[in-house]
Amino acid sequence: MNSLPNNLKQIALFLERLPGIGQKTANRLAFYFLRLPESDLKEFAKNITFLKTKTKFCNVCMNLTEEETCSICLDKKRDSGVITVVEEVLDILSFETGNIYSGVYHVLHGRIDPLNHIGPEDIYIEKLLTRVKTSKVIEIILATNPDMEGEATAMFIKNQLSGLNKLNGKGFKITRLAYGLPIGGSLEYADYMTLRKAIEGRNSY
Ligand SMILES: [Zn+2]
Repeated sequence: MNSLPNNLKQIALFLERLPGIGQKTANRLAFYFLRLPESDLKEFAKNITFLKTKTKFCNVCMNLTEEETCSICLDKKRDSGVITVVEEVLDILSFETGNIYSGVYHVLHGRIDPLNHIGPEDIYIEKLLTRVKTSKVIEIILATNPDMEGEATAMFIKNQLSGLNKLNGKGFKITRLAYGLPIGGSLEYADYMTLRKAIEGRNSY
């Protein structure tokens, strides 16, 4: 590594910090960058530079967007009365890839995880409850991951939503993704057929 020019070495060292990238792959990618046309690199550098300042949370669902409201929430063809609650933005991509779902989303940006000191107030549950209170909702699909923390998060939200249902006479359905998803797995890695099975077979929760 010391034999590399400094700029190339800094890029390789940065790439090595990315998840799933070892030193060899990082070096290979850095060399790949070197071979790209300068216009591609400038475009990439510009996108990286503005990544933090341009990207913000959708004011409805907390998905990532460059506008006030994300394209999914703005899409009139989607059913805004069906809300799938997911832990992370990447989970939305899993649903969207297979074209298996036409409702909207709510992103929690985490899950309840007492061992790591993450409580309900640290993720966007309150925002979901406010949204449910102030809009017309037919069904909430709880699509947190099927592991211990995901289940605990789904249970907590279900209890809060059931309270709302009783108090406000809202009468929406609360469902949870069903079979097909491996226990202890992560939605991010589920293929769309598995997700389709899970969403078709969802149960009252
Ligand atoms: Zn949105």
